[in-house]
Amino acid sequence: MEVDSSANLMEKAREKLKEVFGYVSFRGNQEAIIHNILQGRNTFVIMPTGAGKSLCYQLPAIVLEGTAIVISPLIALMKNQVDQMNAFGVNAQFLNSTLSKAEITKVKKETLAGAVKLLYVAPESLAKEENIEFLRKAKISFIAVDEAHCISEWGHDFRPEYRRIKTIIDHLGNNLPIIALTATATPKVRQDIQKNLRMENADLFLSSFLRSNLYYEVKPKIDSKKQLVRFIKQHKGKSGIVYCLSRKKVEEIAEFLKVNDIRALPYHAGMDSAQRMANQDAFLNEDCDVIVATIAFGMGIDKPDVRFVVHYDAPKSIEGYYQETGRAGRDGLDSHCLMFFSPKDIDKLEKFQKDKSVTERDNAKILLEEMTYYANSSVCRARQLLHYFGEYMPHDCGNCDNCLRKEEGKAEEFDATEMLLTVLNTVVKTGQRFGIRHIVDVITGNTSDNKYIESYGHDKLPEFATGKEESPSLWETVVRQALIYGFLAKDTDDVTVIKITDKGKDFIENTFNIKFVKDHDYNSAEIEEDSELLHSMHTPQASAADEVLLEMLRSLCKKIAKQKKLPPYVIFQEASLEEMATTYPTTLEELARVNGVGQAKAQKFGQPFVEMIAKYVEENEIETANDVVVKTTVNKSKTKIFIIQQIDRKVDLDDIAEAKDITLSELIEEIEHICYSGTKLNIDYYINQILDPEKQQEIYEYFMNAENDSIKDAMEAFADDDITEEELRLMRIKFLSEVAL
Ligand SMILES: [Zn+2]
Repeated sequence: MEVDSSANLMEKAREKLKEVFGYVSFRGNQEAIIHNILQGRNTFVIMPTGAGKSLCYQLPAIVLEGTAIVISPLIALMKNQVDQMNAFGVNAQFLNSTLSKAEITKVKKETLAGAVKLLYVAPESLAKEENIEFLRKAKISFIAVDEAHCISEWGHDFRPEYRRIKTIIDHLGNNLPIIALTATATPKVRQDIQKNLRMENADLFLSSFLRSNLYYEVKPKIDSKKQLVRFIKQHKGKSGIVYCLSRKKVEEIAEFLKVNDIRALPYHAGMDSAQRMANQDAFLNEDCDVIVATIAFGMGIDKPDVRFVVHYDAPKSIEGYYQETGRAGRDGLDSHCLMFFSPKDIDKLEKFQKDKSVTERDNAKILLEEMTYYANSSVCRARQLLHYFGEYMPHDCGNCDNCLRKEEGKAEEFDATEMLLTVLNTVVKTGQRFGIRHIVDVITGNTSDNKYIESYGHDKLPEFATGKEESPSLWETVVRQALIYGFLAKDTDDVTVIKITDKGKDFIENTFNIKFVKDHDYNSAEIEEDSELLHSMHTPQASAADEVLLEMLRSLCKKIAKQKKLPPYVIFQEASLEEMATTYPTTLEELARVNGVGQAKAQKFGQPFVEMIAKYVEENEIETANDVVVKTTVNKSKTKIFIIQQIDRKVDLDDIAEAKDITLSELIEEIEHICYSGTKLNIDYYINQILDPEKQQEIYEYFMNAENDSIKDAMEAFADDDITEEELRLMRIKFLSEVAL
């Protein structure tokens, strides 16, 4: 038998990515992970939800000989994935308690014949003797353990049967490669997973937890029902989840939304399971738009086009909040995460803990303090979230409520230079052994609440009580911003202890002026108005897609989904429909080139779509520009909107590039994409800075008379002039925007 070299396999993987999944390129770490798996190495993947985790094992399963076993905790999730794989034309099956004897026999037969590429198995089924016997006979390519945090008691979804997985795998064959995947970030859970699966030597792939397509917003919980209805009506017809703390609240809010003509259904553990399943299915099949739920809802949900997640009540921890908001925008398109915050909710959550042990209560309290700070803080939300997961983000995200407020000059900044120095010195002089509370107590001289100050002699420090003129909460925000901006760091062993970093030491040596932002004051009514304003500002720009056609394609998608008894996104995802309504593919070949479609799906479902598009194009006399390639990956749409907004505000292109962490040339490329997909942009303000009027006119006239808009030709034409490629490209954008669009 010929063994493929890993280079060949990788080549094959790239082909299949295009052919089966319809993607032209990998996202993030995917390529490196897949390469690792194809080499038969143990692989540990930590990736946030929505970053394309499943593809990391699906693609190697398709490429490698034999069957990949995917261990997955939830039956609903399994069915969902199998449906999606089958829609892509991949033979995937599952083995769990819902199958009849005859069905099980069929699955086993197909697997032994080598036809099944992915076999999803529940951990309970995996433990059965007859299944172990069967799997020993099958040719297994590798084992994927999905939702691997279920192994850990420290995780939020502990499943005891997950702890037996490794022993069972050892019975299945020698040295089967294992890939473990999770979206959980805490180091403790990570350690537990690796230990339990005995894969300490595995290659670790840790992805950034930044979800740049999610817009995070926190609003004070004032008039929240009215705010909620208004918010949902702004997202009319879109899928969303509203999380509430209690079952009673879930029922109440679901009912309230229904009365307000919103197609909403409740979901909580107290409902009878048939009704609960029916409501979940209604959400997946888009027979209802909004599901109102306790946090019990979501783990089994792989709906890619959830456009908003609302926390009607404050979440219990940042980790939970991140997981729950992470259910929005899995397709990479812009989505909105809104939280209504009230300190009363935090009090309530604390009271829930009163019967728990002291340790549990203390832990819960720390989590709630972090949550409270997140809500109150004016620091970029993404920066705060990443900081919580131990990731340093060097710049603001530019796409959250706090960033917008800052851009609009509405954030209340203050000179924090002296205060930061005081904090850093206090941390050093108290021996880097204390937490935020103690540092603030020393600086404000709070000996009455903190008896340790005197017993440690911290009342003798020069910093003692020097800050008593300012409020303890202002000092707290200085400490917390010092942490977020990397002047201080949490101790890795005990996260309640803070230490100074090199950056902090450097600041003491070479102090420079620094500004921090004051926390929100949710008690003032003004904020309410402000956030109204911010909300209207955030209404995303109309996309380049043809809205009428898009709506027609959506209904067609729903109709076909109903006939085939599948959720609509299994047919085509929203991002693909949008691209169809932008590029007007009228043949199956063209359709297969749309991101996320691929050949199998085009063949399987594409005919009525291309027919509809062809008819629409003809009736509306639309000139399709198939030679103009409008290929952008789905998760770029947010960047696009950002660029358009910034250009409208006449922000320097260099600054836009910096904010997005890309080069000027990459930015120009993005702008070109935007123009070629039909959006006019006026960049005169920038061009006027870099090119004098005569030069501009010369280049403009060149494009006016040239046979084509090739930059290469233009470069040749201006070879004797001192003009750069970038200048030419910018002029071409100006020219296109003024003449061709
Ligand atoms: Zn931000």
